[in-house]
Amino acid sequence: MRIFIQNGHIIDPSQGINGIGDILIEGGKIKEIGLQTPSHPTIGEGGHSDSELRIIDAGGLMVLPGLIDMHVHLREPGFEYKETINTGTLAAVKGGFTTVCCMPNTFPVNDNASVTEFIKRKASQEGHCTVLPIGAITKGQKGEELAEIGTMKKEGCIAFSDDGNPVMSSLLMRRALEYSKAFNVPVISHCEDLTLSEDGVMNEGLLSVTLGLKGIPVEAEQIMIFRDILLAELTGGRLHIAHVSTEGSVNLIRNAKKRGVQVTAETCPHYFSITEEAVIGYNTNAKVNPPLRTKRDVEAIREGLRDGTIDVIATDHAPHHRDEKLRAFDMAPFGISGLETAMSLSLQLVEEGILTMNQLVEKMTLNPTKILQINKGSLKTGSDADIVIADQGREFKIDTERFVSKGRNTPFEGLVLKGMPVITICKGKIYEQ
Ligand SMILES: [Zn+2]
Repeated sequence: MRIFIQNGHIIDPSQGINGIGDILIEGGKIKEIGLQTPSHPTIGEGGHSDSELRIIDAGGLMVLPGLIDMHVHLREPGFEYKETINTGTLAAVKGGFTTVCCMPNTFPVNDNASVTEFIKRKASQEGHCTVLPIGAITKGQKGEELAEIGTMKKEGCIAFSDDGNPVMSSLLMRRALEYSKAFNVPVISHCEDLTLSEDGVMNEGLLSVTLGLKGIPVEAEQIMIFRDILLAELTGGRLHIAHVSTEGSVNLIRNAKKRGVQVTAETCPHYFSITEEAVIGYNTNAKVNPPLRTKRDVEAIREGLRDGTIDVIATDHAPHHRDEKLRAFDMAPFGISGLETAMSLSLQLVEEGILTMNQLVEKMTLNPTKILQINKGSLKTGSDADIVIADQGREFKIDTERFVSKGRNTPFEGLVLKGMPVITICKGKIYEQ
């Protein structure tokens, strides 16, 4: 089948494209892309009137490369009651994502090539978008012994992380970064000093005292970021910091980049949209790790996004079963189901003038491809036809009843936002809202 997308506002930072134009898709690939000019109105759909041609009028809409989420938890194998590769990737395409990278904290842990192979096979059989596995840094994510990074890379792992847990041993983290240099893959660090965060359930401060909940100080994150930056400097390895949540973290990363350290960073929509106050009322849907912070941190994260300190917006999509989030606040698991709300929440940064549309698209397509060195995130002729068409003016009410993810755990229920994805095309297959 061929698809002709016409009159859309195309933004593709990989080619420096930003203007009204048309795209022709054939056989799941971008066949032709062209901007409209007064002398050259359109690339045309080839003059064919066959029934195999689907025409999408994108007048008034944004046409972007399919979004890439470099931090999701698909829960399969092992926790299929929370999410599966099938439901997680369906949530992804509904949210405008055409590529997701899944963290290894499954059961069994993705710490060897057979688990990697299982995820890839399942994704090709039941997945709705491209799934790229992230392998564990240490065996069983126990932080004791390095996993088989080389063989997992050969099997298709595009990065390594013990996400969910930090690598507490500085020596092991040093070795992991040395491997990252040798194999030319990024190490994604979940920065948390467990001796400081131990048993904490929310941000440490006046509010945690008022609520009688044990706090996690910002230093638990910042100490590990500082350590990892020093180790990246020592080894020349490629370090990527996951889910940055504090002002101090942004400052550390900004300074390291100025010194030329090979460090990149991501944040998630909840860290630039809401504060720790979402926890008031013991709302377990606002329980996330690292925790939601203060207004000052939110402002710093936004500034970090604006000035390029933070390269990527990822979701840290962490779905849980409803019953688990119904537990008392102390006992409920950490995590937010983020794939179906990320694009609308991120579009608010454009709406508020913090990012240009081009910058936002970079952080959700081009920058992840550079860090992961994958051949995605572009509308170049010959690329996979991975596209999201978004309506910047359309109101979107967050309604968990309409989620296709099994995880309905979000602190954004009922929020009305401006802008949403309306059509996602993944390798030429069309998903409409
Ligand atoms: Zn994490």
